[in-house]
Amino acid sequence: MPASSAWPARLALAFLLLVLSASSVLLWRQIEGVQQQRVDERLGYQARSLARQLESTLHLEVASLERIARLWNSLGRLPRAAWGEEVERALRGFPAYQSIQWVGPDLHMRWLLPVAGNEAALNFRLYPEHPNYPLAMEARETGEQRFSNSFDLVQGGRGFVLYTPLYREQNGERVFDGFLQGVFRVEPLMQQLLSQIDRDAFNLELLENGHSLFRHGEPDNSKWHSLQLGLSLLNNQGFSLRLSPTAQLLDQLDSPLPGVVLGASLAISLLLVAALALALENSRRAHALQLANRRHKQEAERRAETEQRLRENRERLQLVLDLTDSSHDGLFIFDSSSRELLHMNQATYATLGYRPEQFAELLRDDPEKLMPDFHRWLEQARQAQRANLSRIFQRELIRRDGSRQPAEINTQLVQLHDREYLIAVSRDNSERLQLEAQLQRLSQLDGLTGLYNRRHFDQQLQSDWRRLRRLGAPMALLMLDIDHFKAYNDALGHLAGDDALRRVSSALKDSLQRESDTACRYGGEEFAIILAHTDLEGAEQVAARIHGAIASLEIHHPASPFGRLTLSIGMTAVDPVMDEQPGALVAHSDQALYQAKHQGRNRTALWQQPTVDLHQTT
Ligand code: GH3
Ligand code: MG
Ligand code: MG
Repeated sequence: MPASSAWPARLALAFLLLVLSASSVLLWRQIEGVQQQRVDERLGYQARSLARQLESTLHLEVASLERIARLWNSLGRLPRAAWGEEVERALRGFPAYQSIQWVGPDLHMRWLLPVAGNEAALNFRLYPEHPNYPLAMEARETGEQRFSNSFDLVQGGRGFVLYTPLYREQNGERVFDGFLQGVFRVEPLMQQLLSQIDRDAFNLELLENGHSLFRHGEPDNSKWHSLQLGLSLLNNQGFSLRLSPTAQLLDQLDSPLPGVVLGASLAISLLLVAALALALENSRRAHALQLANRRHKQEAERRAETEQRLRENRERLQLVLDLTDSSHDGLFIFDSSSRELLHMNQATYATLGYRPEQFAELLRDDPEKLMPDFHRWLEQARQAQRANLSRIFQRELIRRDGSRQPAEINTQLVQLHDREYLIAVSRDNSERLQLEAQLQRLSQLDGLTGLYNRRHFDQQLQSDWRRLRRLGAPMALLMLDIDHFKAYNDALGHLAGDDALRRVSSALKDSLQRESDTACRYGGEEFAIILAHTDLEGAEQVAARIHGAIASLEIHHPASPFGRLTLSIGMTAVDPVMDEQPGALVAHSDQALYQAKHQGRNRTALWQQPTVDLHQTT
C-alpha cells in the first residue's frame, strides 16, 4: 500500500480513538451519575424520613396538647394538679420541650412546668408587640392550633411556640380561656432528631425562611449533594430541613469504579486502536512485501526468459557456426589490429592443409606467410569499405605445402566496442579461374580449324604492335587466301572444303616455329599470321615454308590449274622506326595478297611501293 493511501486509514483510526475516548468519558459520566443518584437517593430517603419524623413528633405533641385542650374545653378550667399531671406526662414523652405553660385569657403567664430553667418566663405576658401576638390572636379567633415562627426565648436561646387556644363554658357561652403553650427550644429538638441518624454521615441544618436556625456538621457547601425539604407544621410552612452528606459518607460511597472504568476503557480504546494501527501497519508491510515479491518473481521470470533466449541464441549461434563448418567457403573473423581470430570454420584452414592452431598462429604472427601482401590487402579492404567499392578481392593463399591457392575473398569490416573486426569469406576459385581461362581461350579460337579467330587476331595485333614498337623490334604480317576455293567446294562438296580448311590450318600452325608467332583464321578461307620479332627476311622464310607445307599436303583440286590446293600470301614487314598503324598493316597485306592473286596465285607478294612480285612457286 503506498504511503499516501495509508492516510485515510490513519485518520479513521484517530477518529475511532476519539469516538472510543468520548464513549469512555460518557460511560464514566454515566457511572458517576448513577453513583451520584445513589447518594442522592440515600440523602433523599434520609431527609424525608427526618422531616417526617420531626413533623410527626411535633404533631404528636400537637395532639397531646390538643387532648389537654379538649379536656379543658369540655370539663372547664382544669384544676392545677390535674393540669400538672397531664403536662408532666407530655413532658416525659417529649424531652425537647422547653416548657408547657398556660397563659391566661389576659395573656399573663399563669402556670408553667417545669419551673426549673424557666424562671425567667414566670412573669411573661404576651403583649401586642410580641412577634407572636398576631399568630396567637389568629389561634384565639379560629380555635385552631398555631405554630409560631422562631423567636428569642426569655429563658434564652431560640425557640418556637405551639399555641393551643383554650375555652370554657360561661353562662352557656364559649369563652376564651387563654393558651396552652408548648415551648420548644430549637437546640434540644434538633439534638433529639440527630439521635435518629448517623451523625457522622450527614450534615443537618434547620432553616426558617432561608435563615439557618441550627446547624450540625460542616457548613454545607456541597451544592451537588444537598437536599432541602420543607416542613409542614400546621399553619407554619416556613421551616425546612437541609440535609447533606458529610465528606466521610461521600468517601464511603465514593467507589473507584467510575475511575477504574474510565481508565480501563481508555486503556482498552488505546490498546484497540494501537492493535488496529499495528494490524494496519502489518497489512501495509505485507502488501509492500507482496508487491516486492511479485516484482522479484517477475524479475526472475524475465531473467529466466532472457537466459532461455540467450541459451537459444547461443545454440543457434553454435548451430550456425557448426553449419559454417559444412560450407566449402572459408569464413574467418579476426581483430584487424591484433589479428587474433574470433572465429573460423573448418574450410578456412582445412582446404589449405593447416591445423586450426597453425592457421591462427600464422595469421597472428606472420600473415604474409598466409597471404602475400596481407597488409596491403587489409588497407585495400578498408579503402573499399570507405569508398563503398566492391569488397571482393582476388588473392592468393599459401597452402601448408607452399603451393598457392587462388581465393576470392569477400571482406566486411565491422566496428564494435572500439575495435575493428574483419569478416572474410574466402572461396577457392582456382577451378572457376581455370574454367574462365578456358572459356576465354575458346572465345578466341575458331571452331572449325582450332586456330585463333578474327577477334583474337585484332587484339593480338594491337598488343603486339604496341609491345614491339616499345621494344623497337620488327614485325611482319601475312595475309593468306586459298586459291580457287569456291571451285573446290563446288567440285568436291562443302564437307571436303571444311576438311581441306582444317588440314591447311594444321599445316599453317606447323609452319610456325616461334611461340610469339600467331596464326588466325581471318575469314572463310582466309588466314592471317602475325610474326613478332621478324623482319622481312624471316617473313619470307616463313611464307616459303608455308607454301612448301601446303604443297606437301597434296590436296587434290580438280578445278585448279595447279591440280592441287594452293594459296596466295600478301606480306608486310615493318621496322620499328616506321610510324605505321595496325589497320594500315592489314590493308597493306591485303593489297599485297591481291597482288599475289593478280599475279597468278600460289605465290607470295610483299607490300611495297611499288609492290614487287618476289617469286612464283610451281
Ligand atoms: P580466288 O583464287 O580468287 O581466291 O578464288 P576463290 O574461289 O577462292 O574465290 P573466293 O575467295 O571469292 O571464294 C571463296 C570461297 O571459299 C567461297 C566459299 O565457297 C568458300 N568457302 C569460304 N569459307 C568456307 C568454309 O568454311 N568451308 C567451305 N567448304 N568453303 C568455304
Ligand atoms: Mg577468299
Ligand atoms: Mg580464295
